[in-house]
Amino acid sequence: MILAVSTFKNPSSPAIGYRGRFAPSPTGPLHAGSLVAALGSWLDARKNGGKWLLRIEDLDTPRCIPGVDHQIQTQLLACGLSWDEKIIYQSQRQDAYQGALERLNEHKCLFPCACSRQTIANTLETLGIRTPRNQEMVYPGTCRPPELRSYSIQNPTYLKKAWRLALPETCQVEFKDLALGSQSQNLNTEVGDFVLRRSDGLFTYQLAVVVDDAEQGITHIVRGKDLLSNTARQIYLQGLLGYQQPQYLHLPLVLDEHGEKLSKQTLATQINTQDEKHALLELRKAAVYLGLNNLPDSANTTIAEWLLAATLVWRSEVS
Ligand code: GLU
Repeated sequence: MILAVSTFKNPSSPAIGYRGRFAPSPTGPLHAGSLVAALGSWLDARKNGGKWLLRIEDLDTPRCIPGVDHQIQTQLLACGLSWDEKIIYQSQRQDAYQGALERLNEHKCLFPCACSRQTIANTLETLGIRTPRNQEMVYPGTCRPPELRSYSIQNPTYLKKAWRLALPETCQVEFKDLALGSQSQNLNTEVGDFVLRRSDGLFTYQLAVVVDDAEQGITHIVRGKDLLSNTARQIYLQGLLGYQQPQYLHLPLVLDEHGEKLSKQTLATQINTQDEKHALLELRKAAVYLGLNNLPDSANTTIAEWLLAATLVWRSEVS
């Protein structure tokens, strides 16, 4: 199956009904990398006269740190990045995700899986398949039944089982990224049947993000390039669930001195927003990553003035 994206609107003409979002996971406060994603998505929304929403992706509850959601909000506001609608928390949206899972089940797109990561690793090893470091293991199809059917998902038989999406035999997804151009991923060879609900009952990011983006009417997803490899899965799910496909723009990543992506896992330092002067300094650093030039650099510039200037120089195609 080849999925191609629709044609893109001319970025210079404001998209009617543009709705963008920033969707941090509250596993740590904002760092330089997450500020780039926040600023890039905010500028794109403002440039297009659109709305910018904040969604807290607190799905993976064991990894979330209590209070960090508020800290993120305080940091964003200190940087002048205000949002337009009520904040959505993924932890409160289980029914929506369950509903989407049930719909996929009705269409015989799921199967239960009892494999642990170790079982999958062992199977791949037996098959002589090596997974490069930092890459996901491609699911070898161990629990996939020869005939797909629908299941009584709630039946206790399936307690402690994960639910995977059964991909069609050929599933090549193509799309155009507004910054990076044409993209293509073969979901069969690069991902395999992927998990939508984990064996511990938690819904996965792939399912939740697709349901939320659709239900919030998101038209433009502007986020870090680290999430690029998830996009094909999300586009495929959008198609199955009958959702509109948003446009995508993946932003450059902030790397540390070892060339690794800054992340909460590598304990990236949080941005300093203790006062306007420091917050502006952080914004200026983020702008460098976004390739924004000729912004006011005087010490007297206010954040509001700076953001206005940044909005004016923002182009949708960031390189
Ligand atoms: N919650 C994800 C993260 O913090 C971002 C999700 C997205 O933008 O699609 O990495």
